[in-house]
Amino acid sequence: MSVNLLDFNATTLAGFCADIGEKPFRAKQLLRWIHRFGESDFSLMSELAKGLREKLSETAVIEPPRLISDHTAADGTRKWLLSVGGGNGIETVFIPEISRGTLCVSSQVGCALACDFCSTGRQGFNRNLTVAEIIGQLWWANKALAEAPEGGSASSRTERVITNVVMMGMGEPLANFENVVTALDLMLDDNAYGLSRRRVTVSTSGLVPALDRLRERCPVALAVSLHAPNDALRDRLVPINRKYPLRELLAACKRYLQAAPRDFITFEYVMLDGINDSPAHARELIQLTADIPCKFNLIPFNPFPNSGYERSPRDVISRFRDLLMAAGLVTTVRKTRGDDIDAACGQLAGKVLDRTRRSSRGLPGSVK
Ligand code: SAH
Ligand code: SF4
Repeated sequence: MSVNLLDFNATTLAGFCADIGEKPFRAKQLLRWIHRFGESDFSLMSELAKGLREKLSETAVIEPPRLISDHTAADGTRKWLLSVGGGNGIETVFIPEISRGTLCVSSQVGCALACDFCSTGRQGFNRNLTVAEIIGQLWWANKALAEAPEGGSASSRTERVITNVVMMGMGEPLANFENVVTALDLMLDDNAYGLSRRRVTVSTSGLVPALDRLRERCPVALAVSLHAPNDALRDRLVPINRKYPLRELLAACKRYLQAAPRDFITFEYVMLDGINDSPAHARELIQLTADIPCKFNLIPFNPFPNSGYERSPRDVISRFRDLLMAAGLVTTVRKTRGDDIDAACGQLAGKVLDRTRRSSRGLPGSVK
């Protein structure tokens, strides 16, 4: 059976080259062709000897997930739906801003952690994405974004339009640890996507042991989905808190920063009307995070059918932000982008065939 070269990082690709009797520098050339130039046809890799191209086509493929659709929202946000087989689909979103372009990448089909306010969490879990399916999202986006925009000129094949990656699409990245870190290797590799460590963010709901492993293996920027200032409320909103309560999570955040001393943690906090958005919650949050270098990102709740939650009103969000800022915490309110194409946080639904049958069992931990 052919191997899929999109599953390999620089190290494993060098191993593959050795296996087929090629020198290690071939791995670098291959990485560049595959990821930088987005080439999936060995016969077009002109710099490689004909014999090698033939050998590659006999033993290997470059197979990204199949593209199903490509939509652009009124605000320029672009969303790709990719098929990962078995009736499952995943979504990837590109958010263009003046000085950067951020790609929001998925790590699993669905998510088993069942946060109550999250549309992915409500759909249950099917499986982890492979490395090829994770990095395949960058591969497609890179290729599509390098094509000529309407009325504009094509950007050069090597110009990097994607300047930042956030692992904030479907799924819990740290629950798919090995595949996610191999994909992170490629994001950081100069022969592939060449992003700096601080421009790649893993967002986690708080899998403490995996956080420690990430710190050792690949300490990229870290976002932690806090969403509540105490265990009683967080147990309900983010059920993994029952296993790794706030005290343990915050201790892991501090350990993480020891590996990257000049960094900070971004705490994400979804604003749910009447649930976690009072001034008392803000004050509790300030105390909780007092000794951690951090920033806050408030995310106005993005509604989806039958969620049972409402977004906090604008003035409530502003008051919450002002309280955090007055305590010296850098706080931003996330702009809701791409919601006309359902590309906003927590609205990424993809298509999940739930194998946990959670949806038929009723929802654990719901706050009604
Ligand atoms: N599983 C990871 C990353 C994916 S979700 C995590 O939980 O961190 C990215 C962010 O969107 C998380 O902070 C998540 O809690 C938030 N989110 C989920 N559903 C949302 C919704 N409906 N509205 C706003 N934010 C949501
Ligand atoms: Fe999973 Fe993150 Fe959604 Fe929670 S918020 S269910 S961890 S994707």
